[in-house]
Amino acid sequence: MKLKVCVIGGAGYIGSHAVYELIRDGHEVVVIDNLSTGSRNMIHKDAKFYYGDITNKQDLKNIFNIECSVKPFDVIMHFAAKLIVPESVDKPLEYYYNNVEGVRIMLEVMTDFNIKNVVFSSTAAVYGEPVNSVCSETDITCPINPYGETKLASEKLIKWVCKKYNMNYCIFRYFNVAGADKSLEIGLNKDNLTHIVPITVQTALGIRKSMDVYGNDYDTSDGTCIRDYIHVSDLADAHVLGAKYLVENNKSLLVNLGSNKGYSVLEIIKEVEKHYPVNYKITDRRKGDPAKLIASNEKAKEILGWSPKRDLSEIINSDIEYRKKIMNKS
Ligand code: UDP
Repeated sequence: MKLKVCVIGGAGYIGSHAVYELIRDGHEVVVIDNLSTGSRNMIHKDAKFYYGDITNKQDLKNIFNIECSVKPFDVIMHFAAKLIVPESVDKPLEYYYNNVEGVRIMLEVMTDFNIKNVVFSSTAAVYGEPVNSVCSETDITCPINPYGETKLASEKLIKWVCKKYNMNYCIFRYFNVAGADKSLEIGLNKDNLTHIVPITVQTALGIRKSMDVYGNDYDTSDGTCIRDYIHVSDLADAHVLGAKYLVENNKSLLVNLGSNKGYSVLEIIKEVEKHYPVNYKITDRRKGDPAKLIASNEKAKEILGWSPKRDLSEIINSDIEYRKKIMNKS
């Protein structure tokens, strides 16, 4: 089955990886992006690119007019969100506008053009402080920051609109995403990185002198926080499966994308140290970090036949190789 997929936010980290896997699987891809955090050179050469802002209805309408007159989109994928937790606390109005109003406009245009299927990137942040250390989709949702709230609000908006207009959604709740595509053409390349994997790798490669481990007094095996790490290409594979599921089954789904397994911050550092030494110090806890966050992926396995294929060593290796490549370029 060859689908025509519109990827909104396809020039960003996760969106660009989804585009790569869609193209490898033989689908036609149209990318819409405002290039606010993504970049033109993250877009696969075989994807068609339109500059456009999801909060500007006219932008979307113009593009849908051109594309849907040739062949309507089978599926829309949404990645065009702001996603930095502390920034969301500082700029709640901006986050609600971009993340929720953007989704509302996208849905309005989808209904105008009678497009039936949407794949939406949500987050583990919708669970807030998890009640259970292994989260399942039926757990209570109670976000503790505006970022998580905007994603939960978008999920709900999507559900109501799909119900009213007979559409289908595939909502993915991501856990900790890291790594880079095997081509090393794309990866996580931003100025202000905050995530543990790229920070540890940058420290190992000497891009940073040292790094902080935020607390070693948590109730975990070594005292540092435990997270569920997933390779960005596994996540991208899930998006391809999700798109096909919607078209084949004409049914909605909401699933976690994780690995059922957790690693502590010190275990991440140890994995990187198999390649290069890492200079780190233990500091105070970072605000808002739950001790342990792991996703049950039973539902993704059962419905989509998806489970991660790439392990922690592959996540770390690919990030190291990608970062070495971009270092040599600059
Ligand atoms: N972390 C750390 N040092 C850093 C960045 C992150 O110790 O420089 C810890 C952070 O406190 C958390 C874990 O690594 O326990 C994962 O954090 P990250 O920001 O990568 O993802 P999050 O789980 O917050 O989405």
